[in-house]
Amino acid sequence: MDCIFCKIISGDIPSKKLYEDENILAFHDIHPQAPIHFLIVPKLHIESADGIDETNSNVITKVFEKIPYLAREAGIKNGYRIISNCGKDACQSVKHLHFHILGGKQLPGEMG
Ligand code: AMP
Ligand code: ZN
Repeated sequence: MDCIFCKIISGDIPSKKLYEDENILAFHDIHPQAPIHFLIVPKLHIESADGIDETNSNVITKVFEKIPYLAREAGIKNGYRIISNCGKDACQSVKHLHFHILGGKQLPGEMG
C-alpha cells in the first residue's frame, strides 16, 4: 500500500520517533506548526476518523490513553491542541488517521 505513515511505521521511511508500542507510534511532524508538534498514529491503517467503527475503535483508545504522557514527555506545560483533519474539506493530506498534538505557545483561538 502506498501510505507514507505505514512506511514510517514499518521503518521504510525514517522519522523522529517519540514513542512506539504494539498499537501506536508517535513522531515529530516534519513541518512543525508550533514549537512542539508531533503526530500520533494507530499502527492499523485507518484512512481517517471517518473510518472508525466498532471493529477498530480500540486503537483510538490506545492513542488517547498515551496523549497526556506524551505531551508531558515532549515538554508541554500549559496545554495543547489535538487535531485530526478528516477528508478533503478539512485539508487532510495524509490518508492514514493521525492526531496532531500542538503546544509550546499560545495557540490562536480561532478555528480558521
Ligand atoms: P494532515 O494535513 O492533517 O493530513 O497532516 C499531515 C501531516 O503530516 C502534516 O503536518 C505533515 O507535515 C506531516 N508529514 C508528512 N510527511 C511526514 C513525514 N515524512 N514525517 C513527519 N511528518 C510528516
Ligand atoms: Zn497507512
